[in-house]
Amino acid sequence: MSRQKLVNVMEEMVSGLVRYFLRSPDYQTFCNCDECELEVVAKALNNLPPYYVASKTDREKIFNELKVSKNIETINKEIIRAIYDVGKRRNHVV
Ligand SMILES: [Zn+2]
Repeated sequence: MSRQKLVNVMEEMVSGLVRYFLRSPDYQTFCNCDECELEVVAKALNNLPPYYVASKTDREKIFNELKVSKNIETINKEIIRAIYDVGKRRNHVV
């Protein structure tokens, strides 16, 4: 039997979305280096509920639940807030 690993579906979702946002034309003024990207993900995740799953089936189920417009709206809002927050106090030279 293979070792199971816990997966936070919210984390997977937010990571993907942050990556997408930071590379979109709307957010070109924000840094998208690994450091800033991770910081945005961390910040957004602290304001969102975790969704841990232990199986592939549950992962798919939760993923589909999170994708519905009401949830994705909340998630996007937290991500955008996190992007501005990190951008505001960015203190490294690119
Ligand atoms: Zn950066």
